[in-house]
Amino acid sequence: MIVKVTCCVCNISFGVSKEMNDNLLQSGNPFFCPSGHEQYYTDARKNNKKKILEQEIIELKDRIEHYTRIIDNQEYDINYFRRSRTAYKGHFNRIKKKYDTEFQNQV
Ligand SMILES: [Zn+2]
Repeated sequence: MIVKVTCCVCNISFGVSKEMNDNLLQSGNPFFCPSGHEQYYTDARKNNKKKILEQEIIELKDRIEHYTRIIDNQEYDINYFRRSRTAYKGHFNRIKKKYDTEFQNQV
């Protein structure tokens, strides 16, 4: 089956197979009239652009969530290390005081 297409620039009509026309309608890919004017189906192109942007939005959301999880984990670790350091500092001060009290007076 042949579908009649009219060039939007020079108005010439030409035939393309239904299969090819369906393909062009879906893809938004460019094609040419017999005089060489580039054509494409605007809605298909718009739809494809929409799909590409939607896909990109999904991927970027995933990446942001991924890095948020990494940051949350790192912050958890850093807080854990801070608490450990504080505990060791307390212990260090108690031992140092004990040492100073018992041995520094003898020097
Ligand atoms: Zn044309």
